[in-house]
Amino acid sequence: MTQRLKDKVCIVTGGAQGIGLATALKFAREGASLAVWDLTQAGIDEAIRRCREAGAPAEGWVVDVTNREGVDTAARGVLERFGRIDVLVNNAGITQDARLQKMSAEQFDRVIDVNLRGVFHCAQAVVNPMVEQGFGVILNASSVVGLYGNFGQTNYAASKFGVIGFTKTWSRELGPKGIRVNAVAPGFVMTHILDTIPEKVLQEMKHRVPLHRLGTPEEIANVYCFLASDEASYVNGAVLEVSGGMSV
Ligand code: NAD
Repeated sequence: MTQRLKDKVCIVTGGAQGIGLATALKFAREGASLAVWDLTQAGIDEAIRRCREAGAPAEGWVVDVTNREGVDTAARGVLERFGRIDVLVNNAGITQDARLQKMSAEQFDRVIDVNLRGVFHCAQAVVNPMVEQGFGVILNASSVVGLYGNFGQTNYAASKFGVIGFTKTWSRELGPKGIRVNAVAPGFVMTHILDTIPEKVLQEMKHRVPLHRLGTPEEIANVYCFLASDEASYVNGAVLEVSGGMSV
C-alpha cells in the first residue's frame, strides 16, 4: 500500500503523549519524517524511539510553544535537519478549569498563552519556508468546546474558538500560496488531559455520544493524517468535528 505522507516533513507539537504521540506514530507509519516538539527530553526521547521503530527518520526538540525564541530556534533546527517543513500539527494544549466566578487571571492567561499564542508562534515560525516551497499544511487542534463552549472552561473555550478564527483567517491568507489550513475539533478523547474530569462526568459524556464511548487518540490521529495528506487537497478552512456525533 502506498504511504500517504511519504517523505513529508512533519512537526507535531505536544508530540510526546496523547493525541500528539498517536499522530506522530501514525505519520511515521505513513512515510513521514518527524519533528517532535514537547516540554521534556525524556518524553521526546521515547516518542522519537517509537517513531524510528515505525521506520521514520525522527528528531526531537525541547520546545515550550509559549517561548517565541525557542519556537523559532526549533523551526530553524527542523529546516537544517530535514531541508523543508511540509506539515505543522499545532497540537500542544492544556486545560486549567474553573467556573467564571472562580477563574484566576493566571489560569486565564496560562491557557490562552499555550493554546492560542503558542499556535500563533508555531504557525509564524513555519509559514515563510512553506510560502517559499509553495506548499504546506497547517492543522490546528480545536475542540468541541471551541464549537459549543463548556461548563468550567472559559479560558479553554476562548482559546479553542480562537484557534478556529486562526484557521479561517490563515486559510484565506495562505490558500493562494499553496498552503492549506484546517482545524480538528475532537470530542472527549482518552488521554491525560481528562485526568481532572470526575468519573461521573465522563460517564455522562459517554451517554451523550451516540457511539456510547470516548474517542481514542488513534481515531484523532487518523483524521490529522487524512488532512495532512494529498487526499485532502481540496479541504481548506474546514473545522472537522471528530466526536462520535456528540453534538447531533
Ligand atoms: P495531553 O495532555 O495528553 O498532551 C498534551 C501534550 O502537549 C503533552 O505532551 C504536553 O507536554 C504538551 N504541552 C503542553 N504544554 C506545552 C507547551 N507549552 N509547549 C509544548 N508542549 C506542550 O493532551 P491531549 O488530550 O493529547 O490533547 C492534545 C490536544 O488536543 C490539545 O490541544 C487539546 O486541547 C486537544 N483536545 C483534546 C481532547 C481530549 O479529550 N483529549 C479533546 C479536544 C481537544
